[in-house]
Amino acid sequence: MVKKRTFPSSTVLGYPRIGPDRELKRALEAYWAGRVPRSELEETGARLRERTWRRLAELGLEGLPSNTFSLYDHVLDTAVLLGAVPERYLAARDPYFAMARGTDELAPLRMTKWFDTNYHYLVPELGESFHLDASKPLAEVRQARELGLATRPVVVGPVTFLLLAGALERLEEVLPVYEELLAVLAAEGVEWVQLDEPALVADRSPAELQAVETAYKRLGAPADRPGLFVASYFGDLGESLPVLAGTPVEAIGVDLVRGAFPDISGKIVVAGVVSGRDVWRTDTDRALGLLRALEAGAEQVVVSTSCSLLHVPYSLEPERDLDPALRARLAFAEEKVAEVVELARLLASGAGTASVPPAAPEERRPVPQERRSPYPVRAAAQAEHLRLPPLPVTTIGSFPQTGELRAARAGQDPEAYEVLVRAEIERVIRLQERLGLDVLVHGEPERNDMVQYFAEHLDGFAVTRHGWVQSYGSRCTRPPIIHGDVSRRGPITVRWAAYAQSLTGKPVKGMLTGPVTIVAWSFRREDLPLRDVVFQVAEAVRQEVADLEAVGISVIQVDEPALRELLPLRRAEQEHYLAWAVAAYRRATSGAADRTQIHTHLCYSDADQILAAVDALDADVTSIESARSGGRILGLLGGFERGIGPGVYDIHSPRVPSVEEVTALLRRALETLPADRLWVNPDCGLKTRAYEQVEPALAHLVAAAAALRR
Ligand code: GLN
Ligand code: ZN
Repeated sequence: MVKKRTFPSSTVLGYPRIGPDRELKRALEAYWAGRVPRSELEETGARLRERTWRRLAELGLEGLPSNTFSLYDHVLDTAVLLGAVPERYLAARDPYFAMARGTDELAPLRMTKWFDTNYHYLVPELGESFHLDASKPLAEVRQARELGLATRPVVVGPVTFLLLAGALERLEEVLPVYEELLAVLAAEGVEWVQLDEPALVADRSPAELQAVETAYKRLGAPADRPGLFVASYFGDLGESLPVLAGTPVEAIGVDLVRGAFPDISGKIVVAGVVSGRDVWRTDTDRALGLLRALEAGAEQVVVSTSCSLLHVPYSLEPERDLDPALRARLAFAEEKVAEVVELARLLASGAGTASVPPAAPEERRPVPQERRSPYPVRAAAQAEHLRLPPLPVTTIGSFPQTGELRAARAGQDPEAYEVLVRAEIERVIRLQERLGLDVLVHGEPERNDMVQYFAEHLDGFAVTRHGWVQSYGSRCTRPPIIHGDVSRRGPITVRWAAYAQSLTGKPVKGMLTGPVTIVAWSFRREDLPLRDVVFQVAEAVRQEVADLEAVGISVIQVDEPALRELLPLRRAEQEHYLAWAVAAYRRATSGAADRTQIHTHLCYSDADQILAAVDALDADVTSIESARSGGRILGLLGGFERGIGPGVYDIHSPRVPSVEEVTALLRRALETLPADRLWVNPDCGLKTRAYEQVEPALAHLVAAAAALRR
């Protein structure tokens, strides 16, 4: 007889892990720089985990997750757990970080975005076989137990893991490892294990649904295993729900912020009613109504977050500068945990009446079309005006940011800062001239971040002091909060671009962030359709484009690295999204004259799937991530009619590519792309790199282009 299990009444699917003061970031950087031993990095990790568990327990949360901490990435951790460590990394000094960041000899694993978030994971690369290495989840369970706390280890589930690795056909091989993991955790006294299956909220083929059934029937079979909690998030389980419900898993996690009300009975429902993706306070009546309605069918209703709280900042507490009226509408991770706890209390007390809010009608208004002259007309005008050599060399915008600059930005002396920024622009221009680049940039020294900078200069946005969210590894961003109508107060980037252009005879690229990306990397208001918010931003960008042209900037790049990120996970919604997202980009850029060359840039976003939309942006030149995936994207770009710059320098790694490597990548590109449309550029901006790497790398790009021109 299988024992009847109960789940703690309140939980969260995961928690931020970078540290409230970004302690992990600093520890990682110190370790990577060789300043501290690995043991010190691990002590920092242990302290952060302890702090999180204690805090969650203090706030009254009952179900504490473990193994949600990571030194770099939880998908990489799962790969290690399953023994999916490619052979070539094993000899590295630290194989884990070799996979994450590469070494002088080895390129890192490919990195891409976690579903529709701005979190990046490392794409697992599977070897010949799998084998269990349960040391990390075991260590975390034991650490928490020593603090007197029972935890529920969280692991990426087999279906999602294999789908991310592009190898679902290996299910039969990986399931025994999960079985063994469950046995090991049961022996450790673990009562519940959370298997994350966010891949189940996207469209799944019959074969994939079959894999879900196979996996969870098999993992659910042993009697002496921990309780199985399969967590879905970022959307609706759809056709995966009945499949999961037909397996022996005891608990199913549903995202009730984005997903529909689930038809579910006889299971424990872990109800994600507190959003893990936004920063707004939860509507208690709505949440309680949903929880009550679930009680009708579910064996038990557990109050939870819609996904891990990894995607929101730690706490509102340090945000003293926010307008009090706005602050009162906000909830970050700590405040969200308090909401979960309070909702669980209300649910238990019998408060609230069952109600399922009506689904908002789908908004499908036609999208306006904006057109410039046909490309050949523009191309001729630009060639005449810019007079660039074949295979022009450029960068994506940012140059390394010095500590001095960051200190001055944080400091109180605007005049000193201004002087420093100008000096930095001059230095970057001189460097590019010396290295021989063809289209220069000013280096973006005035920007803390490509979105935050614009947010600070636009009405309708608030920025936080301390609202850091992990983007990948040690990288964090502080997403601004869109709380009202967006409009431009005045020119934003114009004086810096004009100053840079005044220093050189070569064209300087004006550098703007696109409307989709500005919105994607912000927390957004929920009272206006996403599309309308994006169009408000597009209008502001359009005004900025016009002002840049007016001061003589003839190349303008409008970055849209997040275009893919907002792509709905369900195919039925994708086409409409892409139509309006493209229209917003064209609204932002179509005011430019024919001779003004519009560039766009996309990165780390698996752009393969949206190439038609990238093409439809109608930019004159598109630079796109490519180096890290071994030029994978190249085969797909053949149909591009306009300029294209596949990245030939992976800036996410400290490695400096050799002239030969760059030449080889360019030669490959020339097999599918005509020489008169190929550009030479890095994969992305250089701001995370050091000058010691950037100078030789750019010199190698210039040398490779020069050799090929000959
Ligand atoms: N222009 C930006 C930069 O160079 C682009 C960054 C990005 O694509 N993420 O930093
Ligand atoms: Zn980029």
